Amino acid sequence: MSNKPPIEISGAGPAGLAAALAVTAAGQRALVYEKRTDVGGRFHGDFQGLENWTTKGDVLEELSSLGIDAGFEHVPVHEIVCFDPAGTANTFRSRQPLYYLVRRGVQPGSLDHALKQQALAAGVEIRFDTPASHLPYGGVVTEGPRRADAIAAGYLFDTDMADGIYAVISDELAPKGYAYLLINQGHGTLASCLFEDFHNERMYVDRCIEFFDRHIGLRMENPRRFGGTGNFSLPKTARKGNILYAGEAAGFQDPLFGFGIRWALLSGAAAGQALATGDPGQYEKTWKQRLRPYHKTAATNRWFYERLGNRGYRLTLQHFPKGGDVRDWVHRAYAPRLWKRAWYHLAASRRTTPLLNPHEDCDCTWCRCKRHMKIQAT
Ligand SMILES: Cc1cc2nc3c(=O)[nH]c(=O)nc-3n(C[C@H](O)[C@H](O)[C@H](O)COP(=O)(O)OP(=O)(O)OC[C@H]3O[C@@H](n4cnc5c(N)ncnc54)[C@H](O)[C@@H]3O)c2cc1C
Repeated sequence: MSNKPPIEISGAGPAGLAAALAVTAAGQRALVYEKRTDVGGRFHGDFQGLENWTTKGDVLEELSSLGIDAGFEHVPVHEIVCFDPAGTANTFRSRQPLYYLVRRGVQPGSLDHALKQQALAAGVEIRFDTPASHLPYGGVVTEGPRRADAIAAGYLFDTDMADGIYAVISDELAPKGYAYLLINQGHGTLASCLFEDFHNERMYVDRCIEFFDRHIGLRMENPRRFGGTGNFSLPKTARKGNILYAGEAAGFQDPLFGFGIRWALLSGAAAGQALATGDPGQYEKTWKQRLRPYHKTAATNRWFYERLGNRGYRLTLQHFPKGGDVRDWVHRAYAPRLWKRAWYHLAASRRTTPLLNPHEDCDCTWCRCKRHMKIQAT
């Protein structure tokens, strides 16, 4: 490994650990600062989905090509039961996994724990309990969301219910979002993912419980409340001099349904590799090529989704071809199209505002003002 000073990364989430792995793969040292006492502390053992629809190829193969092992528990999901607002169930299936169910949190088997183990084995140094606020020599900022464009709230629980993946699209349960119930191997995650009316979060969670109980029969043991926020604003630039922003810190997350793990891993790996190879400008090119078209498409999809209302959700679900493959269907909906890009610029781009927070000291990880670059130029 090189004798150069380590490349610094602030935040040991998926984006930060992917960045660290890319740095060590390029023969450089990586030093990760994490403000919490362990990785995954933002999560609570909840199930999340690692999406497998934006590309034709499998996400795990893409991660492997970036040097990220699938050493975490991952359950392929081929079937999902999706309820419309009236409570009609539609069962959708796919040949290839629509997504992989993963756990988030500190516990062994979780995505976070496995990434930590892989990073430590690769020689990455992680300093826990150490918040970073400045990166004077440059580095990668992967500190997670900075504002809430959406929130998810609900319960984790133990259960003897059979494994199953359920979603409900209804503004009564999750305005402009969706509710979900994920059961696997005796563990359950139930949540309402809201894109507006955050103040009434509790009411929506109660309605979700009532809905799933009525339609499936909920058996929740040892319920624990959980929740979190998501940020998905497309930045104009994810670079401030030698500081690169990746994952949700840059706003990289699917704006239609809030799937951010894959985008965090991809952008983190790209940022780490660009810095390790001494070419930070390459990062801008990579994310603009790999992520931006999907972001614009998903933001346009969201624009239409927000205008559907309960009647529109029902018609959309009915529109799904009988016996069709849900992964193919979703893949087509997320595929970048010229008209969606045009619509994005005309109407759907309202979440692109760059996060300006003009601090005086411009190596601050929060600030995106151009002062740092001006200092470098003089
Ligand atoms: C309830 C919920 C459900 C979700 N479900 C899904 C899903 O099903 N599928 C999906 O793809 N995505 C899902 N997401 C989104 C996904 O979890 C995130 O997009 C993803 O974790 C982003 O990774 P990240 O590395 O960018 O940020 P994070 O995972 O947030 O990691 C950031 C890390 O930085 C640390 N940190 C913050 N500030 C500092 C600092 N100053 N110094 C040092 N460390 C710092 C934090 O403690 C944290 O460990 C969900 C999110 C929530 C909240």
